[in-house]
Amino acid sequence: MNYIILDLEATCWKDRSVQKQNEIIEIGAVKINESGESLSEFCEFIKPKLNPILSDFCKGLTTITQEEIDTADIYENVIERFKSWITLDEPYVLCSWGFYDKKQFQKDGELHNLNTEWLKNHISVKHQYAEIKNLSKPLGMGGALKKEKLTLEGTHHRGIDDARNIAKIFKAHIGKWSIQ
Ligand code: AMP
Ligand code: MG
Repeated sequence: MNYIILDLEATCWKDRSVQKQNEIIEIGAVKINESGESLSEFCEFIKPKLNPILSDFCKGLTTITQEEIDTADIYENVIERFKSWITLDEPYVLCSWGFYDKKQFQKDGELHNLNTEWLKNHISVKHQYAEIKNLSKPLGMGGALKKEKLTLEGTHHRGIDDARNIAKIFKAHIGKWSIQ
């Protein structure tokens, strides 16, 4: 079994009442084996279909630049490379901090009329972490890192850095994650 620890960044606007569809602009992921060793990493930007110009808010939150998005590939191509990096014909489970990332993949898959069957093996590390630690409610990634006495490395809200930080929490509890 390989664990695919992933984190997405998406287009966003300061005013959450803005009626625009969020689209993935970065996939960051770390592949970990059953022993908790990192095998490889995936990091790609994606040019959004509906709103390819990032808001100032989004650039500020993620530190992703307009140039990185202008030169990025389209969703269909990046997702093909991501799926082949995962290696779908070997056992894997997608792991993210909460359910947002799976829902966002689902929405982008529908927008591009793509098969989303590959998303079905998924766990929320955030919710399982709360169970492992007997917390009354789930913590944010920053709070969980603090609890583990781990440092938040890199830039928070950059997909690859968030994925690496979630991977550290994941590795600290290897063997405790339950896969349905
Ligand atoms: P994260 O993994 O926490 O960096 O968040 C993933 C995505 O959720 C971001 O790329 C944004 O699209 C959205 N998001 C996160 N925090 C906010 C926020 N405070 N306001 C609006 N959108 C947000
Ligand atoms: Mg993130």
